[in-house]
Amino acid sequence: MGNLLEDLNDEDLKIFNEEFSDFLPVEIMDSHVHLWKKDFFKENISESRQKQNPALDPDIIDGFTIEDFKSFTNKIFPGKKYRGLFFGLPMKEVNLDKANEYISSVCIKNGSYGLFNPEPGLKEIPQDFFKNRFVGFKPYPELVDYKTPKDFSKLDIDVSMFDFISKKVLEFSDEYGLILLIHIPRKDRLNDRRNIEEIKAIGKKYPNIKIVLAHAGRSYCYSDIKDSVRCLKEIKNLYVDTAMINSFSVNKVLLEELGSEKILYGSDLPIAIFKGKNIDINNRHYFVTSIPKAWSLSSSEMNLDSFTFSVYEIIRAIKIAVKSLSLSKGDVDNIFYLNAKRLIEDILQK
Ligand SMILES: [Zn+2]
Repeated sequence: MGNLLEDLNDEDLKIFNEEFSDFLPVEIMDSHVHLWKKDFFKENISESRQKQNPALDPDIIDGFTIEDFKSFTNKIFPGKKYRGLFFGLPMKEVNLDKANEYISSVCIKNGSYGLFNPEPGLKEIPQDFFKNRFVGFKPYPELVDYKTPKDFSKLDIDVSMFDFISKKVLEFSDEYGLILLIHIPRKDRLNDRRNIEEIKAIGKKYPNIKIVLAHAGRSYCYSDIKDSVRCLKEIKNLYVDTAMINSFSVNKVLLEELGSEKILYGSDLPIAIFKGKNIDINNRHYFVTSIPKAWSLSSSEMNLDSFTFSVYEIIRAIKIAVKSLSLSKGDVDNIFYLNAKRLIEDILQK
């Protein structure tokens, strides 16, 4: 992990103390945390990929280990018990075996839980899945061509969920009621009817799976979710995480339509370490960062020192939505801790 961890200053801590210290429960469960080490990459990351994807940015590409996670969260969440649901970096350049092994070793040592990054065609569930403290899966659309990688020119890959989530993963998850954290494919996200149909099909055919839509179905913009949320409502075992959602209006509609018991706080660390915000302009989302990046809007001419961590912007956007709806402390506890705890406990009891 590069020097981003050292970006913490008094102004950041002031934000924490004034806005979040009393608002957040003492125990926090972050349901969306990537951990990896530099040597998990099986090939060099092309320059175009580093420019395209925040997770592959030179500032974080060298890894985000459990030690980095602890050091960062201890510093920016003083007085809180901040835990994570961990998984690897599901990129085509990553050796998934090494990634999964690392997650398991971290979880065993720290009493945490993890999600397994499966290859799209996974036919056999790895031995000692539960002993290795996995409680579900985190498949990824981009891995569709894991065996024969092509260089993607765009991130919005047009594949079906069934192209990257194997039947075996679905059946095993259903049998044990596991978490399936889905990063949905396709350019139009939840506004693509095919995505809705596929989520519904999974919910219907595999009713015991705890489906969690990562980034609330990649809904960084209000227009991504405002209509589609009604289609999601009817799916009983469906949850969303808040990873990198910085929009108050997205959180508000999620709370109104799905309720606090279906929303899991997730950060997308280490991406959420970048100082800046994920913003919605004319129904498209853009990252704005204090340090100019090829993947963000920024300016080296402007003085953007006053930005804070994206993870604080995630929490801020939840807090404003919670306040605007006059929700209770119980709702906040659901989002930041209880929902994830309940899902995991339910799996452990089986
Ligand atoms: Zn992520």
